[in-house]
Amino acid sequence: MSVSSLLQLNLRRLILILALFGVAVTLLNTFIASYQVQKQLLLDNTLEANRVYSSKLSANIERFLQNAQHQLQFSAYKAKDHFNNLNWLKDEAYRVVRQDLSFDSVIIVDRNNQIVAAYSDISSGHIAGVINRDSSSSHRTAPDVSAPVLSPQGHFFIRISYPIISDQGNYLGFIGGDVYLNQNNNLQHLLGDHDYKDGSYLYVVDQKKRLLHHHDPERIGEEVTNNPAIEAVIAGQNGSLLLTNSKGVSMLAGFAPVPATGWGIVAQRPEKEVLNILSERMEAVAQYTIPCAIATFFMIWLLARVISRPLWQLANSAKHMDTPDAETGISRIPCWYFEAAQLKRGLSEGISLMQEKISQLHLDSLTDPLTRLYNRRGMHKIINRCQINSGCLSVIALDIDHFKRVNDTWGHDAGDIVIRTVADVMRDCSRNEDFICRSGGEEFLILLPDTGLSAATGLAERIRTHIEHRHFEAIQSGLTVSCGVALWESGQGKISQTIKQADQALYQAKHQGRNQVVQVITESCAA
Ligand code: GH3
Ligand code: MG
Ligand code: MG
Repeated sequence: MSVSSLLQLNLRRLILILALFGVAVTLLNTFIASYQVQKQLLLDNTLEANRVYSSKLSANIERFLQNAQHQLQFSAYKAKDHFNNLNWLKDEAYRVVRQDLSFDSVIIVDRNNQIVAAYSDISSGHIAGVINRDSSSSHRTAPDVSAPVLSPQGHFFIRISYPIISDQGNYLGFIGGDVYLNQNNNLQHLLGDHDYKDGSYLYVVDQKKRLLHHHDPERIGEEVTNNPAIEAVIAGQNGSLLLTNSKGVSMLAGFAPVPATGWGIVAQRPEKEVLNILSERMEAVAQYTIPCAIATFFMIWLLARVISRPLWQLANSAKHMDTPDAETGISRIPCWYFEAAQLKRGLSEGISLMQEKISQLHLDSLTDPLTRLYNRRGMHKIINRCQINSGCLSVIALDIDHFKRVNDTWGHDAGDIVIRTVADVMRDCSRNEDFICRSGGEEFLILLPDTGLSAATGLAERIRTHIEHRHFEAIQSGLTVSCGVALWESGQGKISQTIKQADQALYQAKHQGRNQVVQVITESCAA
């Protein structure tokens, strides 16, 4: 098989290419659509989750601050009655710090801004420094949450304070609770327990865009600029957006402000982490889709075979339409759908018509159109066939007497009618197995298989007599013929030789006066 024939397209390959193309396009489309939908869904979900998370956290911080203030309010209410009792005040400071993890240190300050009692989990020396540095701590006549303050040790803290007012309404001082942003307290628990392994993290900024909480402790206190989430959240907005952070990383950020402090909470997750999940999901989609696509392709391949098979078989048969068994071959092809069945019927009819024509042409090439007897070519075929047979064959050579006169007197057409009539007589007198040939214009040969000389001579005589006694309408008269008869037996030379002998006998009959039969006498012709 040559390369070009291998590359040649057939229906099956066309269907397969089409199927492959269809499956590939569908698969690709499924992947792209699925990817886009999943990606958008994941991004939207992550943004919304971060927004909800930061909002929830903001509400929790608000609640923590309220609780803390309530605690201090309660202490301030009690302290007004024991403000001269330093021991009581020290115990109270101790109790407020120790009763839960709300505060890291507590101070009670008098109206002169002097610390009268204090207790700290951090260090006592630190408290004095704090009170001196924090000028806003003096005369806190209203409940307050301070802005983040940097301690001498370099740690941020906020001070929640509540004024101590006597029953008479005089300002006695205030009680202040410090909450450090890096200590083991409730606020830290709220902020710090939420680092996920999926790359999510949160951070808190104050009004000055300084990081108060961040999973990287090195960055605490750092001022962050050019971050749209921070800009939005310190402006008091709650929402989410896809942004590029100060490190150039694309982040899905949700943010919410803490109104009590003016802080902003930003919960975010790198977009890359989300897209990693997407890749895993797309692999899962592929795992589910590809087997189905392969099965579909296999089904189409099978179907392509089944559809193309009848057409392929018909096309193959059409290549051998001239062979005798072409029609049988086509009739055996199962054509299960309309077009193939129509094609099969058309091809079948075409072949039978063609073979009919061929056999007609074949017959025409072997017969004489005027008499429908065998012509010289037909005669030679019969002679060749008889030559290989065993047995004997008699030959009668017949010629119409004085035929030229018929033509001359009655015309050529009348002559044709006479020739046809003589042929009919010969046909009527002979057997089915005899072969009658028109060997020339008005000359004939009759080959009689398995017939002896006397039987052949008898037939020749019968023909001669029939014609002699016949009235030919076309020439308004009678006619005669002369015959020569010879015998051929297998193993005794060629039949053509016997034909020559029959011709010579005919010549002799003409010479002897016509209208007679002359037989060639041979030694073995007794039959
Ligand atoms: P003889 O008795 O010796 O056979 O005399 P004849 O006239 O038959 O002699 P010949 O064989 O020479 O003449 C045959 C004539 O047959 C010559 C030709 O014009 C005529 N002929 C040959 N073929 C046809 C034919 O197909 N149709 C007609 N009408 N005439 C034909
Ligand atoms: Mg003649
Ligand atoms: Mg003649």
